[in-house]
Amino acid sequence: MNSWIEVSEERLAGNYRAIAAAVGADTDVLAVVKANAYGHGAEVCSVTLARAGARWFGVADAREGVRVRRALNAAGFAGAEILVMCGLMPEDVEAIAEHELTPVVWTAEQVGWLRGRAELRAHVEVDTGMGRQGCRPGAELDAVLDSIGSAGLVLAGVMTHFCAAEVAGSEKTREQRRRFEEAIAQIRRSELRPQWVHAGSSSSVDNPADESAWLAEVAKSVGARAMVRCGIALYGYCLPIDGVGASSKLRSALKPAMTWKTRVLDVREVAAGETVGYNATFTAPGPMRLALLPVGYADGLRRELSATNARPGGWVVIGEKRAAIVGRVSMNLTMVDVTGIEGVRVGDEVVVLGDGVTADDHARVAGTISYEILCDAGKL
Ligand SMILES: *Cc1c(COP(=O)(O)O)cnc(C)c1O
Repeated sequence: MNSWIEVSEERLAGNYRAIAAAVGADTDVLAVVKANAYGHGAEVCSVTLARAGARWFGVADAREGVRVRRALNAAGFAGAEILVMCGLMPEDVEAIAEHELTPVVWTAEQVGWLRGRAELRAHVEVDTGMGRQGCRPGAELDAVLDSIGSAGLVLAGVMTHFCAAEVAGSEKTREQRRRFEEAIAQIRRSELRPQWVHAGSSSSVDNPADESAWLAEVAKSVGARAMVRCGIALYGYCLPIDGVGASSKLRSALKPAMTWKTRVLDVREVAAGETVGYNATFTAPGPMRLALLPVGYADGLRRELSATNARPGGWVVIGEKRAAIVGRVSMNLTMVDVTGIEGVRVGDEVVVLGDGVTADDHARVAGTISYEILCDAGKL
């Protein structure tokens, strides 16, 4: 294998415990393991998180839910709850029923697909301002609640998703909170009694605005338990809080769980004036020693990490020292500068992403967010 991902179970469990401590005993933490646990491996992460105390898991679709269910069952966590968060198709209903997954619904049409499956426990998503999925409070929510009642389904949970959770004192979040309270009041007037009310993500926990006290209050008003859905923080990252900077409640307690490694494929000396890689975007200013790495953009190493003489790019870590990328990151190969690192040899281990070169570092150079970097890492 040219490159591989190592996930620290200890760090993953530590991050889960840090989140649980931050939200307090009145709020549960749903562990978001969608997108193959943000590139970390959904099966191994779910089991590790279950051992650390997680009882709820969030996946993108039914197929991923089945994978997580099988892994959790095999590890002895048969009672785990798995929320299918990113949509439902009619053909998913069979797998959802068979594997006891919990679907998120927001239209009467979706509820119709679940009719006659009395054992299913659905969660309703309310759109309070994300403008993506969910029904709006008022007539749309009423229509869904009516359809759940008439289909004989159990409404086990109600949820919403904040669109600006990482912004301190966000006007948008305030408005979303208000609309969610409206939705919960509407449910209180119905005969349905959800067990769970959930909102918020990693940034909501990190944000000094502290949605968890508010959420616990809202959940209590309808006799439910509060839950927050955290993904990125489990893996050791969190967006900086806008308007606060780096000092935040949770972020400092997190440790990146992923290390992406490869090995040196070749080492070559180049003379001044020799160029490196596609389009000769880098010319050696003097004698250099370069290491060839068997990773490239096909593996998820961002091409934006490429470097020219004028503009530095990304770097990797070899023997705890930084080795700068030189020239273009290509499909399967990348060159790095090891001139200043003694004794680099073919076969030496290289950290492409991990301590010393975090997903935040990659994201800054590539102009994206840590989420996307992690999802891409080692994807071949
Ligand atoms: C992905 C997702 C989350 C987790 O968000 P993080 O910022 O990674 O904590 C929470 N809720 C929903 C609905 C999601 O899709």
